[in-house]
Amino acid sequence: MFPWAGMARGVLVNDVHSRLNPTRVREVVSVASLDALVEAVRGARRQGLPVCVGGGRHAMGGQAFAEDGLLVDTRRLDRIGRLDARASTVEVEAGIQWPSLIEGLARAQEGAAEPLAIAQKQTGADRLTLGGAVAANVHGRGLAMRPFVGDLEALSIVDAEGELHAASRREDSDLFRLAVGGYGLFGVVTSVTLRLVPRRKLERVVSLERVDELMSAFSRRVGEGCLYGDFQFAIDESSRDFLRRGILSCYRPVPLRTPLPEHPRELSREDWRSLVELAHTDRRRAFQRYTEHYLATAGQVYWSDTHQLGVYLDDYHRTLDRRLRSRVPGSEVIGELFVPRPALPEFMAEAAAALRRRGVVVIYGTVRLIERDGESFLEWAREPWACIVFNLHTEHSRQGRAATAGAFRALIDLALGRGGSYYLTYHRWATRAQVETGHPRMPEFLRAKAERDPRGLFQSEWYRHHVDMFGPSRASGVQERRTRRYA
Ligand SMILES: Cc1cc2nc3c(=O)[nH]c(=O)nc-3n(C[C@H](O)[C@H](O)[C@H](O)COP(=O)(O)OP(=O)(O)OC[C@H]3O[C@@H](n4cnc5c(N)ncnc54)[C@H](O)[C@@H]3O)c2cc1C
Repeated sequence: MFPWAGMARGVLVNDVHSRLNPTRVREVVSVASLDALVEAVRGARRQGLPVCVGGGRHAMGGQAFAEDGLLVDTRRLDRIGRLDARASTVEVEAGIQWPSLIEGLARAQEGAAEPLAIAQKQTGADRLTLGGAVAANVHGRGLAMRPFVGDLEALSIVDAEGELHAASRREDSDLFRLAVGGYGLFGVVTSVTLRLVPRRKLERVVSLERVDELMSAFSRRVGEGCLYGDFQFAIDESSRDFLRRGILSCYRPVPLRTPLPEHPRELSREDWRSLVELAHTDRRRAFQRYTEHYLATAGQVYWSDTHQLGVYLDDYHRTLDRRLRSRVPGSEVIGELFVPRPALPEFMAEAAAALRRRGVVVIYGTVRLIERDGESFLEWAREPWACIVFNLHTEHSRQGRAATAGAFRALIDLALGRGGSYYLTYHRWATRAQVETGHPRMPEFLRAKAERDPRGLFQSEWYRHHVDMFGPSRASGVQERRTRRYA
């Protein structure tokens, strides 16, 4: 039926990290050119099939998948286009993933006196696409950065008619503001003009800190010129240090002539594997080992772009389940909470109490900073917040999922109670009241979607969930729930 290459039928897809979003899509079309993409969108339109858009499949709330939809896999749209050194921008296809982009930029500028590089990417995983970064309006560990919207100059987007549009602050700025953080609902981003920054060398500055003094420690590091940093907190729930103490690692520019270490101290894949296992079996030792490693790397010099890459162990939990002889398979589900910075110590104390009470295990967690977004339609960074990430161990049973969902709802309440919010990309367990408080523009966002895509071509399980939640009676103009075929 669909003549293009790379097609498979009735395919079960899932997200990479939590593995809790199995979805049967009608077909997967892997597109490698703009023409193929336009043809896929128009073909789906002719057939009345909803379209979902996928990149690295790391989003965990069903944003990339729609049951019975046509999944457009963008990962072969991965070319690097024009690098404009004067404007400090590069145009790249939206399916490119960070390692290829970072490597490609370095290759294209070999020998350059003042090379350019990406400003920020997500931490904890690398094989994520630029399209996915736009759609979630992601952030990295910049100490004074806005979300990804701040790194974007322009986008090219194929809309629900199969037409290509340019969107930027000057051209169709409404589409630009909707598409950034718009979770693929306003069209397929085909290319991104990314703002670059000088590629620098950075020295890692490491200290042990308490949450109570963390904000002043962050400010001190910013005052010393550090550009990046995060705080990884203690995860052992039986310790007094649980969510109270941690290791702050920041990165301060040093002259470009500073040599990089010949044999850098770094954690190998095997080290990571054993650390992850320890985090499941002996969290006190896991945190100790981690801390020792970071303290031993103080003063080590890194490139500003590659220091943002890391090890991600594909399917690590399957191996772990076997090794630990788990009765029920499991994985980690991530959640991210945002709170006004002065409220961080109180939030962490109450979060520790809530997690202990519920017996939900934290495998990994960090605190980072974000500056106010001020541009995207569904902006999550409505203030300069502290961002707290929790990776919660989750058994793949009804009780396991309910425990993690309950814990995240409790954490969201704690964040909302302090005037904060939560990140939409990781799950869809927030209650309607929590969505309304944390993301007050959600109904308006859904209305804008219905106006721009009245037949509902672009869909996802995440979108259907929110349409169910804010259905026509609650947000007039929003499409009927569970539109399997679009009108
Ligand atoms: C281990 C891990 C660590 C993470 N760390 C961070 C972090 O540090 N900071 C952070 O902000 N986020 C983080 N995330 C979340 C992640 O950045 C987002 O979920 C991101 O959207 C995933 O990108 P992806 O390429 O995997 O896209 P997918 O998961 O495939 O898709 C995500 C969304 O993007 C849309 N999309 C993808 N490509 C396009 C396109 N070309 N055009 C239009 N829409 C598109 C999809 O429709 C979907 O709505 C992390 C996730 C994991 C699992």
